[in-house]
This record gives sequence, C-alpha cells and structure tokens, in this order.
Amino acid sequence: MNPSQTEFTNLYCQLSRHFFSEITPEALHEPKLVHHNRTLHDDLQLALSASELLDMVSGNGFPAGCRPIAQKYTGHQFGYYNPDLGDGRGVLLGQWRDSNQQPWDFHLKGCGQTPYSRRGDGRAVLRSAIREHLGGEALHALGINSTRSLAICHNLEAVRRETMEPRASYIRIAKTHVRFGHFEWLAQIEDKAGMQLLADYVIETVYPHLKAIDAADRYAELLNTIAHNTAVMIAGWQAVGFCHGVLNSDNMSVAGETFDFGPYAFMDDFEIHFICNHSDTEGRYAYSQQPNIGLWNCQLLAQAFGLLVSEQQQEAALNTYVETYNHEYLQRMRAKIGLQEPLPEDRELVADLLILMDQSQLDFQHFFLQLADFENEQACLNAGWPMDSNNWQAWLKRYFIRRQLELFPEGCSQRIRQHTPLFVLRNYINQEVIAAAEQGDFDLMDRVFQALGSPFEKVSGVPARYYEPPQSENQKGLILSCSS
Ligand code: AMP
Ligand code: MG
Repeated sequence: MNPSQTEFTNLYCQLSRHFFSEITPEALHEPKLVHHNRTLHDDLQLALSASELLDMVSGNGFPAGCRPIAQKYTGHQFGYYNPDLGDGRGVLLGQWRDSNQQPWDFHLKGCGQTPYSRRGDGRAVLRSAIREHLGGEALHALGINSTRSLAICHNLEAVRRETMEPRASYIRIAKTHVRFGHFEWLAQIEDKAGMQLLADYVIETVYPHLKAIDAADRYAELLNTIAHNTAVMIAGWQAVGFCHGVLNSDNMSVAGETFDFGPYAFMDDFEIHFICNHSDTEGRYAYSQQPNIGLWNCQLLAQAFGLLVSEQQQEAALNTYVETYNHEYLQRMRAKIGLQEPLPEDRELVADLLILMDQSQLDFQHFFLQLADFENEQACLNAGWPMDSNNWQAWLKRYFIRRQLELFPEGCSQRIRQHTPLFVLRNYINQEVIAAAEQGDFDLMDRVFQALGSPFEKVSGVPARYYEPPQSENQKGLILSCSS
C-alpha cells in the first residue's frame, strides 16, 4: 500500500469559507452494521478495520484527516429556483485517494441537521439507505456512472416520515459532490472569483487532464466535458430503463455520475411516459423526459458558466450534449437488438420498437432476452411472439431484413445477450429486501447485492423468480414517493 494513502483530507475546506459550514454530526447510538460493500472497499484500497468502518458510518468517530462539512448550493427543483438549498442531511467527510491518486469523496448521510436542513430532521431511514446502496451498485455493474454506497448502519431509533421508520446512516462515495446547483448559486450571487475557484477545484479533483488545456479555453472545456458525461449517463439510463425520479439541478453531479437517488425505478413493463415518483404529478421527470431534462439542466449550468465562458462556448457545450446523447443512446439501443453497424434507418427502427413495446406493455428487460431466441421473422410468427398483430409483424420484417445488413448477422443473438442483463433491480425486489431488513433480516439484501453485481449471469442464492418478469400486477411499476 502506498503510504501517502493512509490519511483522509478534505480538499473542499481549502475553498472559500462561505462555501460550507463545519458540522459536528449527530451520531447513531448503538449502531449495527446493515451492509458493507466489500467490492467498493477493495476498489478503493481502503484500510479501515470493521470497528473503524462502523464508527465512521454511524458518525461516532472519523479517521484522521476527515473534517465534516455541509456544502452550500442552490438549484432548480421541479422547474423553480430554490436559493435555500445545501447539504441538509449529509456531510462531506473528506477524500481518500486510490492507488491512481484519484480522490474520492466520502459523504456521510443521515447524521443530523445542518444550517441547510430547513425544517428537515437531517436523518435518513433504512428504506432509502438500502435503495441508494443497491441502486448505485446496480447501475455501476451495468456500466453506468453512479455514486456508490460503502456501508449502511442502523439503530433502534425511529424516524417520522409518512409512518415511523427505522433510522439509518450510510456513506456515499462519489468522484465529487459538486452539483450543477453549486455553480447556479455562485452565478446567482455574481461571485465570479468563487466560480473560478470552484471550477479549478472540479478540474483538480475530477478532471485533472483539463489542466493541460490552454487557460483561455479550460473552463469552456470543463463545461463541455460535464455536458458530455451527463449525456453519456442519461443515454445509459434510457437503455436500461432506469428512471431517476427527481432530476432537479441540485441532484446533478458535475462528474456525470447518477446522484441523489430519489424514488428511482428500473422499469418493468415498458411505458414511454413512465413516472416513478408519485409526487411528480406532471410527469416532469417521466422516463421519456429524462434526456430533455438533462439538456435543460445543462442549459442552467451553461447559463451559470456565463461568468467564465462566451456565449458561443455555452452553445457548443449544449450541442455536445445533444450530439453525445443521440450517438450514445442509439449505440446502446442498437446493441440491445443485436446490431453493430451504424445505419441511418436505425433511429426509426428503435423508435418504432419502443412505441410498440409501450402499446403492448411488454417487459422491457425480457423482451430483448426473448428476441435473442429467434433467428428470423418466421420463427417469431410461428411462436406468435411477441404477439399476433400486423404492427409487430411489420416491425419484425424490417428488423430481420436490417439484421442481414450486418457484417456478421449470425452474431446478433449473441450480441443481444451480451447487452441484456439477466438480473434487474426491480422495485418489487427492492421492496422485499427492505421489508426483510426492517424485520432485522439482512440476508436477502446480501444475496441481492451479489446478484446485482453480476447482472449478466445467473447466480444462485436469490429466488429464481427474481430472474423472471414480475408474476403479479401489484409487483409491477410500483410508484414511490419523494419521502426519504
Ligand atoms: P433531496 O430530495 O434528497 O435531493 O433533498 C433536497 C433538499 O432537501 C436537500 O438540500 C436536502 O439536504 C434537503 N433534505 C431532504 N430531506 C431532508 C431531511 N430529512 N432533513 C434535512 N434536510 C433534508
Ligand atoms: Mg438532493
């Protein structure tokens, strides 16, 4: 182990004093570990003992070099600017460098109020801790950038939400906790020097390769890179049927990592306008809206960056978002239907497929697995798959003709299987894990955690039905609330 890695630091504290408030976390008494993400622990080459980890995740004691702070930011929530935001129930403890010298933020969530808590209690509940812990790992295993959670603990206290719920706290690991909303805040208070300071901080900690760029273009390239990474992330969500739930600009990370999980969902039956968050009555953050909302949030960021970059550079970053999104999305969707060669008709082929899947209410994950079982249109017709209808027949005809335009059409089914996860963290599975955990049984969570870490193979240890579409209507499309 490299000796320089044995201590944490908090690099964010070196920024201007008004960027944060120092916090003494309110520890959980008599905490018990719920789950420890050992894969992440190893990925980070962490050297924490079991008791050091429990102390850290419960807020009872921190490794040398940690300095808990709450960050100030603002942001647009459901389309409206809120100037009063900041870390209300989480604190940045500091950073740990991995063996590549990359710093990783350690953020403790659920250990009490901060100056930005407004009327909130600063606490977290076991339910949402588990959802974030599992969701981040599931996305990571699917190759989609996401924050991850290192560990969760709980105790016997109860916290008031819609009902009384068990209390928990957890440690979120991220490339950074700087959000789009941090820059919106600095633009709002017209703090150009502060914005430069923060942009330099993001370059230093997240995008050090940008230091090689001429100073005159460096901030424009930073904006461009953030837009690019955001587009790649959202294209990934669309391709796996992931809905974030609360895409407010304070929940957008400048590292392009899936951040601040709300009532997220991996879709069951495909529904273009699926809304996973029942507080989102207008469907602002529906599945179909996510790419546009990503652009809208990038527009907010670009506007804020107006203090540092030209109008032309702002526009260029937004074009980067659109071009990157279109390219990445189509690439991923092509792969999901086994195609590799980029052809102009593919965009329409994919769009028409989604319309049909929506109309037919087909399971978004299983459709592709089943498609891999058929080698031609006739085989589908013989099996009456996916259903007897002229529209499906017409689409299948186009699709199998299109397959023949591949250099290796015989590799299509194999390609579908390579890009279709067998294990998907459906909301009903999440709910079963939470129900067991709330009864003190963490075994199912451990097994689900292992399954979602290897989504492209079947692992023993979880119920076989988890690899099938939901068996009953009430397991499908569970809609959750914002309350976390
Ligand atoms: P979120 O919906 O988790 O993105 O939170 C939006 C804002 O509300 C953030 O500034 C949070 O810190 C704050 N917040 C949400 N829940 C609580 C809570 N229970 N206690 C304090 N602040 C909270
Ligand atoms: Mg948030």
